[in-house]
Amino acid sequence: MLIAKDKKGNYINAEDLTDKRGTYFCPACESLVILKSGSIMINHFAHQSLNHCENRSENESAQHLSLKLKLFNWLNRCRSTKVELEKYLPQLEQTPDLLVNENIAIEVQCSPLSLKRLSERTKNYQRCGIKVIWLMGQDLWLNQRMSQLQRNLMYFSNNCGFYFWELDNANDEVRLKSLIHEDVRGEIYYVTKYFQFYHDDLLEILRFPFQQQPPQKIKISPLKLVNQENYIKKQLYHRNPRWLKIQEKYYLRGQNLMTSTFSYPLIGPVGFDLLFFKVSPQRKQTFCQIDANISDYYRRFAQNIIENQKSSDNLCLYPPHFYAIMEDKSKEEKDS
Ligand SMILES: [Zn+2]
Repeated sequence: MLIAKDKKGNYINAEDLTDKRGTYFCPACESLVILKSGSIMINHFAHQSLNHCENRSENESAQHLSLKLKLFNWLNRCRSTKVELEKYLPQLEQTPDLLVNENIAIEVQCSPLSLKRLSERTKNYQRCGIKVIWLMGQDLWLNQRMSQLQRNLMYFSNNCGFYFWELDNANDEVRLKSLIHEDVRGEIYYVTKYFQFYHDDLLEILRFPFQQQPPQKIKISPLKLVNQENYIKKQLYHRNPRWLKIQEKYYLRGQNLMTSTFSYPLIGPVGFDLLFFKVSPQRKQTFCQIDANISDYYRRFAQNIIENQKSSDNLCLYPPHFYAIMEDKSKEEKDS
């Protein structure tokens, strides 16, 4: 942790401290902490004895400490922004890494946590009217596939679709990965926008997904789509249990997955039912950070593909906003 209390109850930032001998206390549990400094880790405090403290900072990595301090200093440059580092919130028994303008918690998440813990912490903030923004360190960056945890750290906006934040400590960079789509194999597709630390206002960057912008798209070649079909056939051939179960569902509808040719692309928004190509009400998707109604997006996506996609074309994936406009247009045409 970077903040401790002194004997008089003043909050002290480890960065500003040179005297190691002072006596300092944890703002959450009030127990004794000591100042640590070294070549790898920046100055920080650690509990003298391990205890059950909500200020869960004992295993903080160098990356976490460094990112937290960089973001704090960045936000502090903006005079109209009130930013508090590691402010302990007793009503929640939680310490957000950064609390901005008293109603935005920024969490720099560098290590995996359980879904249960993520959901508890998220709901606690929401219950108190605090919006929480999770920014992910290296171990949680998006790779070829998404874990359950990463799905639940995703956000949604009409301009960006599903999106995900990453922090790069070595390059001083915030990355916004948006328009996240998934194929039937679980491989993901997205566009990336890069923001350099200290350049623009960080709060403005975090609002970016909700600002108007030229619509992005992802183009996918027909070859990629053929590969998806081959993948399914291979899985069935090797009797992969997951795919055999899906095959059963197909049989129940009088279809055979092995011999099906798919008239629809096997790539879509995360959580969309690609194999049955529809929005199934019983298979409602919930994502921990998202309260928007995603089913409209799924429905419009499906509608747009059915109306416009020919199998020989490149597949173009657009943000939810685009599909909404297309739907309005097609309604107007039908009415006139
Ligand atoms: Zn403590």
